Amino acid sequence: MEKKNIDWSNLGFGYVKTDYRFVSDFKDGKWDDGKMTQDDKVVISECAGVLQYAQTIFEGMKAYTTQDGRIVTFRPDLNASRMADSARRLEMPVFPEDRFVEAVVETVKANAAYVPPYGSGATLYIRPYMFGSNPVIGVKPADEYQFRIFTTPVGPYFKGGVKPLTIRVSDFDRAAPHGTGHIKAGLNYAMSLHAIVDAHQQGYDENMYLDAATRTKVEETGGANFLFITKDGKVVTPKSESILPSITRRSLMHVAKEYLELEVEEREVFLDELKDFAECGLCGTAAVISPVGKIVDHGKEICFPSGMEAMGPVTQKLYETLTGIQMGKLEAPEGWLKVIE
Ligand SMILES: *Cc1c(COP(=O)(O)O)cnc(C)c1O
Repeated sequence: MEKKNIDWSNLGFGYVKTDYRFVSDFKDGKWDDGKMTQDDKVVISECAGVLQYAQTIFEGMKAYTTQDGRIVTFRPDLNASRMADSARRLEMPVFPEDRFVEAVVETVKANAAYVPPYGSGATLYIRPYMFGSNPVIGVKPADEYQFRIFTTPVGPYFKGGVKPLTIRVSDFDRAAPHGTGHIKAGLNYAMSLHAIVDAHQQGYDENMYLDAATRTKVEETGGANFLFITKDGKVVTPKSESILPSITRRSLMHVAKEYLELEVEEREVFLDELKDFAECGLCGTAAVISPVGKIVDHGKEICFPSGMEAMGPVTQKLYETLTGIQMGKLEAPEGWLKVIE
């Protein structure tokens, strides 16, 4: 298969229209067979549930070319089950998990010419999503839905080298106790836009959100979970019901324990213990891990010993091990790589 003529290493993180996308409609209580289409336009009622009451959820994952030339995705079964959880919380019909994985495979296969070659640092980002499509004016769940998957090639995250981030402790909250922080829904992002624009204006890369009830515990940023490394080399991640369960974070915790033989802890992390950690990173599909060099809490600076020039040594090892698994350089745990072709 001939690859598209794209300057892979210089791609950013933006939308590039690819040739095919998957579409399935839910109507009269059931999903249709779904199909691949070249039509990138969505036509829905002006009164669609998604437009009026934000009934929409999504997933984010990637396809990679491995060292030996296969195209793979990483743990798509976990994206399928997380999307099912998101759907149930917003009273949307679940797109069956096995069909979700099949549709991801088919969509990537159809766009294989856009999967960046091994070594370019670029990947094919995959965006499954679902929304209420029929008219809804009284507040209630929609009766009809559309499930779609598109793909877009994205460039290497750390173009021009790794730059540790400076983040601030936010005065805005991301998620309420017993709210929707644990599901991947557009509504969690809409309310974070003001906070991130404001953070950027003040010169910060990201917001650290605290637990809304006590504002003493670390939750996550707008789109990534935290990992901390203690001075004695333990890997710690915050535990909370209102954090989005990152697949990257869960995979890194497994890698830390089983591949690197580090101690791991998922527990409450208090704001006032941040100064005791040796390293800090943000994890998610986009970057795998972005190192954090500095956290600013209302003028008080917490600088990690790993500094502002490079990833900390443990963060680096975690990063290399997980990306090594994803690129087929290290043996993957059973079921982690779904081979597409
Ligand atoms: C998607 C997302 C993450 C990262 O999850 P991954 O499965 O690792 O990509 C973290 N936090 C939030 C709020 C997210 O939406």
